[in-house]
Amino acid sequence: MHRRSLILASVAAALPGAVAADSPLVASLGGSLPLLLTVPHDGDESIGSVPVRTVGATVRDLGTRPLAEKVASLLEQKLKARPRLVIAKFSRKYLDANRAEQDAMQSPEALPTYQAYHAEVARHVSELRVAFPQGALLLDIHGQSEDPNTTFRGTRAGLTVKALVQKHGIEAIQGEKSILGGLASKGYNVNPSLGSVSLEEDRRFAGGHTVFFYGSHRPQGIDAIQFEFGKNQRASWSLAEHFAEAITTFLNHYGYLAK
Ligand SMILES: [Zn+2]
Repeated sequence: MHRRSLILASVAAALPGAVAADSPLVASLGGSLPLLLTVPHDGDESIGSVPVRTVGATVRDLGTRPLAEKVASLLEQKLKARPRLVIAKFSRKYLDANRAEQDAMQSPEALPTYQAYHAEVARHVSELRVAFPQGALLLDIHGQSEDPNTTFRGTRAGLTVKALVQKHGIEAIQGEKSILGGLASKGYNVNPSLGSVSLEEDRRFAGGHTVFFYGSHRPQGIDAIQFEFGKNQRASWSLAEHFAEAITTFLNHYGYLAK
């Protein structure tokens, strides 16, 4: 499964924490935090001669890759440890990594790239489960423009964070010390609203393939949350700082950083 070319191996050696994925269109980085950030929709590269898809969303989640990379650097400054990262460098115009395989592509030529992306996510998830049997977290990072001043959480109404909610209650995903709560405390408009008694989420952003496939409701999964940041929120330099602070508060409060 992990066929590694010499070229990729040498690139990986040059970047701290970089892991050679099976495709040059997938960036994968290691880290020692119980946290994986995935970014499926901010790539701009083509995949060989794969044509532009004519079915499904093709819009780019602009700014989500630099957001994740900046959050990783800020967490390293704050916690002396980095999250793991999987980033799609390919454009969503050719392949949508946040869809089930049958809906992700229209050309079979895109399949190896799809498989390379998900092989990396699956590998990190499985390594996190071994390293952190008490719990680890996947955050799937997106952007939306329909409601430019709102961040939407997607967990299929709590399903993909089943383990976390069983352990700590729904406060862990929409209370004061949740990641959503951390953003709300900085003045961000969030959905569901903080302290809501219902786990219901906006249907448009209720959680895609990644959180559904890797979430803790599945036997081999971990807690998984999708974040859809509004266009105006992504335009602010402060978002990465606030998101990193919200993640740090959550990890601290819920014991992820306990030795
Ligand atoms: Zn997206």
